[in-house]
Amino acid sequence: MSAPAQSGLYIVATPIGNLGDLSRRAEETLAAADIILVEDTRVTGKLLNHIGKKSRMMVYNDHKSASDREAILDAVRCKIVALVSDAGTPLISDPGYKLVRDAQAAGLYVTTIPGPSAAIAALTLSGLPSDRFLFEGFLPSKTKARTESLAALKTLNASLIFYENGSRLGAMLADSLSVLGDRKAAVVREITKRFEEAVTGSLSELSQRYGAEKPKGEIVVIIGPPGAPEAASDEEIEAALREAMVRLPASKAAGEVARMFNTDRKALYELTNRWKSEK
Ligand code: SAM
Repeated sequence: MSAPAQSGLYIVATPIGNLGDLSRRAEETLAAADIILVEDTRVTGKLLNHIGKKSRMMVYNDHKSASDREAILDAVRCKIVALVSDAGTPLISDPGYKLVRDAQAAGLYVTTIPGPSAAIAALTLSGLPSDRFLFEGFLPSKTKARTESLAALKTLNASLIFYENGSRLGAMLADSLSVLGDRKAAVVREITKRFEEAVTGSLSELSQRYGAEKPKGEIVVIIGPPGAPEAASDEEIEAALREAMVRLPASKAAGEVARMFNTDRKALYELTNRWKSEK
């Protein structure tokens, strides 16, 4: 790929710890940018030093006023404007959403140079189901608000991804245990850095461990989906079948209860016939 030539907004993902993860396209885009929108000029300045470039940086966050964003969009109309965050993918618990929204609404060219994000990297290291997941970002720091947020996620059949920090980790895991029950989980730390680790276990094990220990560095917590509901007893299934037979013909009652308990419809239908012949 050659350096970008078209004016527009380029969303550029940057490494989350290991500079070797800066992609060639990301490097070329940053080198070609007329302006780089950054969270912190010192952090992105180090990245630019690493690639030996000195592009112009401007601080951006989504709290800027609409008129400030309008001024940035004026630049996007005729220049190559790159958007980065301190680390990882912009907009993912980082600034950028409002700018992208407004740039698209104004009909400007917007593209992304994808790359690392701690959420996805942690999911891949967690050993937990990765087919369905929900990214929640940072939970509130106060227990009441945090437990309310967790309660809203309780019935979701998906792995849950949270950003966290070492000093709040123990309390966050304890609240998760009390609201979500004792699920499988992983504390993934310092991804792509020297002390990268993924500590897996049940929420009770992890909350005990991190109740006593406040780990350093950057952390993602992954909590697995709720386990399969406990298998229903024969008595529960028969009671549901008798109740359904009051409302429905036997074949439909057997079908409804089979779906409800994920069990064999034919066997239930035969049971209804046996009950009828015993009368
Ligand atoms: N936009 C970034 C991304 O795509 O990963 C995330 C920005 S968010 C402000 C920063 C949080 O991401 C950290 O507090 C931590 O929870 C997580 N994080 C970032 N880098 C990490 C790493 N190397 N290892 C583990 N977690 C990381």
